[in-house]
Amino acid sequence: MPELPEVEVVRRGLERWVTGRTIAAVEVHHPRAVRRHLEGPEHFVAALTGRTLSAAHRRGKYLWLPLAGDGGVPTGQALVAHLGMSGQLLVEKKSQPDETHLRARVTFTDGGRELRFVDQRTFGGLAVEEAGPDGGVPTRVAHIAIDPLDPAFDEAGFSAALRRRHTEVKRALLDQTLIGGVGNIYADEALWRAHLHGTRPTDKLSRSQVHDLLEGVRDVLGEALEQGGTSFDSLYVDVNGQSGYFSRFLAVYGQADRPCPRCGTAIRRESFMSRSSYSCPTCQPRPRIRRERTGA
Ligand SMILES: [Zn+2]
Repeated sequence: MPELPEVEVVRRGLERWVTGRTIAAVEVHHPRAVRRHLEGPEHFVAALTGRTLSAAHRRGKYLWLPLAGDGGVPTGQALVAHLGMSGQLLVEKKSQPDETHLRARVTFTDGGRELRFVDQRTFGGLAVEEAGPDGGVPTRVAHIAIDPLDPAFDEAGFSAALRRRHTEVKRALLDQTLIGGVGNIYADEALWRAHLHGTRPTDKLSRSQVHDLLEGVRDVLGEALEQGGTSFDSLYVDVNGQSGYFSRFLAVYGQADRPCPRCGTAIRRESFMSRSSYSCPTCQPRPRIRRERTGA
Protein backbone atom coordinates (compact mmCIF):
# COMPACT_ATOMS: atom_id res chain seq x y z
CA MET A 1 0.00 0.00 0.00
CA PRO A 2 1.42 3.42 -0.86
CA GLU A 3 2.40 5.29 2.28
CA LEU A 4 2.58 9.00 2.80
CA PRO A 5 5.89 9.78 1.04
CA GLU A 6 4.81 8.02 -2.13
CA VAL A 7 1.54 9.92 -2.18
CA GLU A 8 3.46 13.16 -1.65
CA VAL A 9 5.73 12.22 -4.56
CA VAL A 10 2.61 11.72 -6.66
CA ARG A 11 1.30 15.14 -5.53
CA ARG A 12 4.53 16.81 -6.59
CA GLY A 13 4.38 15.03 -9.91
CA LEU A 14 0.81 16.19 -10.46
CA GLU A 15 1.76 19.72 -9.49
CA ARG A 16 4.56 19.67 -12.00
CA TRP A 17 2.87 17.87 -14.87
CA VAL A 18 -0.86 18.63 -14.83
CA THR A 19 -1.65 21.85 -12.97
CA GLY A 20 -2.64 24.74 -15.22
CA ARG A 21 -3.79 22.33 -17.94
CA THR A 22 -7.33 22.18 -19.26
CA ILE A 23 -9.12 18.85 -19.63
CA ALA A 24 -10.19 17.96 -23.16
CA ALA A 25 -11.77 14.58 -22.50
CA VAL A 26 -12.17 11.92 -19.82
CA GLU A 27 -12.68 8.19 -20.32
CA VAL A 28 -13.83 5.89 -17.55
CA HIS A 29 -12.82 2.30 -18.30
CA HIS A 30 -14.17 0.75 -15.11
CA PRO A 31 -17.18 2.11 -13.16
CA ARG A 32 -15.69 0.94 -9.86
CA ALA A 33 -12.89 3.47 -10.22
CA VAL A 34 -15.45 6.32 -9.92
CA ARG A 35 -17.87 4.62 -7.49
CA ARG A 36 -17.32 7.42 -4.97
CA HIS A 37 -18.70 9.86 -7.54
CA LEU A 38 -22.29 9.10 -6.58
CA GLU A 39 -23.95 10.67 -9.65
CA GLY A 40 -22.27 8.09 -11.91
CA PRO A 41 -19.55 7.95 -14.58
CA GLU A 42 -21.25 10.21 -17.16
CA HIS A 43 -21.70 12.93 -14.59
CA PHE A 44 -18.07 12.51 -13.54
CA VAL A 45 -16.90 13.00 -17.13
CA ALA A 46 -19.13 16.05 -17.63
CA ALA A 47 -17.96 17.62 -14.38
CA LEU A 48 -14.34 17.49 -15.54
CA THR A 49 -14.51 18.22 -19.26
CA GLY A 50 -13.38 21.75 -20.09
CA ARG A 51 -12.14 22.40 -16.54
CA THR A 52 -8.63 23.47 -15.67
CA LEU A 53 -6.70 21.72 -12.88
CA SER A 54 -5.51 24.67 -10.84
CA ALA A 55 -3.35 23.05 -8.11
CA ALA A 56 -2.42 19.73 -6.49
CA HIS A 57 -3.06 19.30 -2.76
CA ARG A 58 -2.71 16.37 -0.41
CA ARG A 59 -3.93 15.47 3.02
CA GLY A 60 -2.97 12.07 4.34
CA LYS A 61 -3.30 9.77 1.38
CA TYR A 62 -5.95 11.84 -0.38
CA LEU A 63 -5.05 14.06 -3.29
CA TRP A 64 -7.25 16.77 -4.70
CA LEU A 65 -6.98 19.10 -7.66
CA PRO A 66 -9.25 22.16 -7.53
CA LEU A 67 -11.11 22.82 -10.78
CA ALA A 68 -11.31 26.16 -12.52
CA GLY A 69 -13.67 27.25 -15.28
CA ASP A 70 -13.26 29.86 -18.02
CA GLY A 71 -10.71 32.52 -17.22
CA GLY A 72 -9.38 30.50 -14.28
CA VAL A 73 -12.42 31.21 -12.12
CA PRO A 74 -12.64 28.55 -9.34
CA THR A 75 -15.68 26.29 -9.61
CA GLY A 76 -15.67 25.30 -5.94
CA GLN A 77 -15.13 21.69 -6.96
CA ALA A 78 -12.09 19.46 -7.03
CA LEU A 79 -11.00 16.18 -8.55
CA VAL A 80 -10.33 13.96 -5.52
CA ALA A 81 -8.13 10.88 -5.82
CA HIS A 82 -7.29 8.06 -3.44
CA LEU A 83 -4.78 5.44 -4.51
CA GLY A 84 -6.14 2.69 -2.26
CA MET A 85 -3.97 -0.42 -2.17
CA SER A 86 -2.49 -0.39 -5.63
CA GLY A 87 -3.59 2.77 -7.42
CA GLN A 88 -1.24 4.78 -9.59
CA LEU A 89 -1.62 8.15 -11.21
CA LEU A 90 0.64 8.18 -14.23
CA VAL A 91 1.47 11.03 -16.57
CA GLU A 92 2.33 9.49 -19.89
CA LYS A 93 2.80 10.18 -23.56
CA LYS A 94 -0.19 9.27 -25.69
CA SER A 95 2.00 6.84 -27.60
CA GLN A 96 2.53 4.78 -24.42
CA PRO A 97 0.41 1.58 -24.67
CA ASP A 98 -2.49 1.32 -22.23
CA GLU A 99 -1.77 -0.44 -18.98
CA THR A 100 -3.66 -3.69 -18.30
CA HIS A 101 -5.42 -2.13 -15.33
CA LEU A 102 -6.10 1.29 -16.85
CA ARG A 103 -9.29 2.55 -15.15
CA ALA A 104 -9.55 6.15 -16.34
CA ARG A 105 -7.82 8.47 -18.77
CA VAL A 106 -7.74 12.27 -18.81
CA THR A 107 -6.52 14.05 -21.94
CA PHE A 108 -5.73 17.75 -22.16
CA THR A 109 -6.44 20.51 -24.65
CA ASP A 110 -2.72 21.12 -25.15
CA GLY A 111 -2.40 17.65 -26.67
CA GLY A 112 0.47 16.79 -24.31
CA ARG A 113 0.96 13.92 -21.88
CA GLU A 114 -2.22 12.38 -20.53
CA LEU A 115 -3.11 11.49 -16.97
CA ARG A 116 -3.95 7.84 -16.35
CA PHE A 117 -5.45 6.18 -13.31
CA VAL A 118 -4.25 2.60 -13.12
CA ASP A 119 -5.40 0.33 -10.33
CA GLN A 120 -5.14 -3.43 -10.29
CA ARG A 121 -7.28 -4.04 -7.23
CA THR A 122 -9.56 -1.01 -7.66
CA PHE A 123 -9.71 -0.06 -4.00
CA GLY A 124 -8.68 3.44 -5.02
CA GLY A 125 -10.80 5.83 -6.98
CA LEU A 126 -11.60 9.25 -8.39
CA ALA A 127 -14.49 11.61 -7.74
CA VAL A 128 -15.44 15.23 -8.30
CA GLU A 129 -16.47 16.83 -5.03
CA GLU A 130 -17.32 20.18 -3.49
CA ALA A 131 -14.15 21.77 -2.16
CA GLY A 132 -15.03 25.33 -1.29
CA PRO A 133 -14.52 28.41 -3.45
CA ASP A 134 -10.82 28.84 -2.65
CA GLY A 135 -9.81 25.28 -3.49
CA GLY A 136 -10.33 24.37 0.15
CA VAL A 137 -10.44 20.94 1.72
CA PRO A 138 -13.10 18.55 0.33
CA THR A 139 -15.52 17.18 2.93
CA ARG A 140 -14.27 13.62 2.53
CA VAL A 141 -10.76 14.72 3.42
CA ALA A 142 -11.53 17.21 6.17
CA HIS A 143 -11.47 14.68 9.05
CA ILE A 144 -7.94 13.50 8.27
CA ALA A 145 -5.27 14.98 10.48
CA ILE A 146 -2.61 17.14 8.86
CA ASP A 147 0.61 15.16 8.61
CA PRO A 148 4.13 16.25 9.46
CA LEU A 149 5.09 16.69 5.80
CA ASP A 150 2.45 19.40 5.54
CA PRO A 151 3.79 22.91 6.31
CA ALA A 152 0.59 23.56 8.30
CA PHE A 153 1.31 20.71 10.76
CA ASP A 154 0.82 21.87 14.37
CA GLU A 155 3.63 20.35 16.43
CA ALA A 156 2.52 21.77 19.79
CA GLY A 157 -1.05 20.64 19.18
CA PHE A 158 0.06 17.14 18.24
CA SER A 159 2.32 16.89 21.27
CA ALA A 160 -0.46 17.92 23.64
CA ALA A 161 -3.03 15.63 22.00
CA LEU A 162 -0.66 12.65 22.10
CA ARG A 163 0.15 13.08 25.76
CA ARG A 164 -3.55 13.40 26.61
CA ARG A 165 -4.27 9.98 25.10
CA HIS A 166 -4.22 6.90 27.29
CA THR A 167 -2.89 4.51 24.72
CA GLU A 168 0.29 2.93 23.39
CA VAL A 169 2.53 5.17 21.35
CA LYS A 170 2.54 3.03 18.19
CA ARG A 171 -1.26 2.79 18.29
CA ALA A 172 -1.36 6.58 18.48
CA LEU A 173 1.01 6.95 15.53
CA LEU A 174 -1.25 4.76 13.41
CA ASP A 175 -4.36 6.73 14.42
CA GLN A 176 -5.20 8.82 11.35
CA THR A 177 -7.28 11.27 13.35
CA LEU A 178 -4.24 12.17 15.47
CA ILE A 179 -1.48 12.22 12.86
CA GLY A 180 -2.07 11.62 9.19
CA GLY A 181 -0.44 9.09 6.96
CA VAL A 182 1.99 7.21 9.21
CA GLY A 183 1.78 3.53 8.32
CA ASN A 184 3.27 0.49 10.00
CA ILE A 185 6.70 0.78 8.38
CA TYR A 186 7.27 4.44 9.13
CA ALA A 187 5.90 4.05 12.66
CA ASP A 188 8.49 1.36 13.44
CA GLU A 189 11.32 3.38 11.92
CA ALA A 190 10.33 6.56 13.77
CA LEU A 191 10.03 4.72 17.10
CA TRP A 192 13.51 3.27 16.62
CA ARG A 193 14.93 6.72 15.94
CA ALA A 194 13.25 8.05 19.08
CA HIS A 195 14.47 5.07 21.22
CA LEU A 196 10.86 4.22 22.11
CA HIS A 197 9.15 0.85 22.25
CA GLY A 198 5.75 0.93 20.54
CA THR A 199 3.83 -0.10 23.65
CA ARG A 200 5.07 2.83 25.74
CA PRO A 201 2.06 4.65 27.23
CA THR A 202 1.56 8.02 25.56
CA ASP A 203 0.52 9.81 28.74
CA LYS A 204 3.90 9.00 30.29
CA LEU A 205 6.02 10.38 27.47
CA SER A 206 7.96 13.53 28.22
CA ARG A 207 7.71 16.55 25.99
CA SER A 208 11.20 15.90 24.68
CA GLN A 209 10.39 12.26 23.91
CA VAL A 210 7.40 13.40 21.86
CA HIS A 211 9.64 15.92 20.13
CA ASP A 212 12.18 13.19 19.32
CA LEU A 213 9.40 10.96 18.05
CA LEU A 214 8.06 13.66 15.77
CA GLU A 215 11.53 14.40 14.51
CA GLY A 216 11.90 10.67 13.82
CA VAL A 217 8.66 10.67 11.86
CA ARG A 218 9.72 13.72 9.89
CA ASP A 219 13.18 12.35 9.14
CA VAL A 220 11.98 8.98 8.01
CA LEU A 221 9.23 10.45 5.84
CA GLY A 222 11.62 13.04 4.46
CA GLU A 223 14.23 10.44 3.57
CA ALA A 224 11.67 8.23 1.91
CA LEU A 225 10.47 11.24 -0.03
CA GLU A 226 14.00 11.97 -1.22
CA GLN A 227 14.53 8.37 -2.23
CA GLY A 228 11.18 8.26 -4.02
CA GLY A 229 12.21 11.60 -5.37
CA THR A 230 12.00 12.55 -8.91
CA SER A 231 10.77 9.68 -11.03
CA PHE A 232 7.06 10.21 -11.24
CA ASP A 233 5.93 7.62 -13.70
CA SER A 234 8.05 4.64 -12.69
CA LEU A 235 7.20 4.78 -9.02
CA TYR A 236 4.69 2.02 -8.52
CA VAL A 237 6.19 -0.65 -10.66
CA ASP A 238 5.54 -3.24 -7.99
CA VAL A 239 1.82 -4.00 -7.74
CA ASN A 240 2.22 -5.01 -4.12
CA GLY A 241 2.87 -1.39 -3.32
CA GLN A 242 6.31 -2.13 -1.90
CA SER A 243 8.40 0.34 -3.78
CA GLY A 244 11.97 -0.82 -4.09
CA TYR A 245 13.46 2.15 -2.31
CA PHE A 246 11.93 1.22 1.04
CA SER A 247 14.47 -1.41 1.87
CA ARG A 248 17.49 0.81 1.31
CA PHE A 249 17.06 2.87 4.42
CA LEU A 250 15.11 0.69 6.84
CA ALA A 251 16.80 0.27 10.21
CA VAL A 252 14.35 -2.13 11.85
CA TYR A 253 11.27 -2.81 9.74
CA GLY A 254 11.51 -6.28 8.23
CA GLN A 255 15.00 -6.68 9.68
CA ALA A 256 14.32 -9.43 12.26
CA ASP A 257 17.54 -11.00 13.62
CA ARG A 258 19.74 -8.55 11.74
CA PRO A 259 21.96 -6.25 13.81
CA CYS A 260 20.57 -2.91 14.96
CA PRO A 261 22.44 -0.24 12.95
CA ARG A 262 23.02 1.70 16.18
CA CYS A 263 24.08 -0.90 18.73
CA GLY A 264 24.38 -4.25 16.94
CA THR A 265 21.73 -6.09 18.99
CA ALA A 266 19.58 -8.45 16.94
CA ILE A 267 16.32 -6.78 15.89
CA ARG A 268 13.23 -8.42 17.38
CA ARG A 269 9.89 -9.01 15.74
CA GLU A 270 6.72 -8.86 17.82
CA SER A 271 3.05 -9.02 17.05
CA PHE A 272 1.19 -5.76 17.57
CA MET A 273 -2.33 -4.89 16.43
CA SER A 274 -2.25 -8.17 14.48
CA ARG A 275 0.74 -7.04 12.42
CA SER A 276 4.48 -7.37 12.84
CA SER A 277 6.38 -4.75 14.79
CA TYR A 278 10.16 -4.49 14.67
CA SER A 279 12.36 -2.89 17.30
CA CYS A 280 15.76 -3.11 18.97
CA PRO A 281 15.64 -4.79 22.42
CA THR A 282 18.52 -2.62 23.65
CA CYS A 283 17.61 0.78 22.17
CA GLN A 284 13.86 0.31 22.70
CA PRO A 285 13.23 -1.60 25.94
CA ARG A 286 9.65 -2.66 26.63
CA PRO A 287 7.85 -0.56 29.22
CA ARG A 288 7.51 -2.19 32.62
CA ILE A 289 3.74 -1.90 32.76
CA ARG A 290 3.11 -5.23 34.47
CA ARG A 291 5.44 -4.46 37.36
CA GLU A 292 3.81 -1.08 37.94
CA ARG A 293 0.35 -2.59 37.93
CA THR A 294 1.17 -5.24 40.48
CA GLY A 295 3.13 -2.76 42.54
CA ALA A 296 6.18 -5.06 42.51
ZN1 LIG B 1 19.90 -0.90 19.08
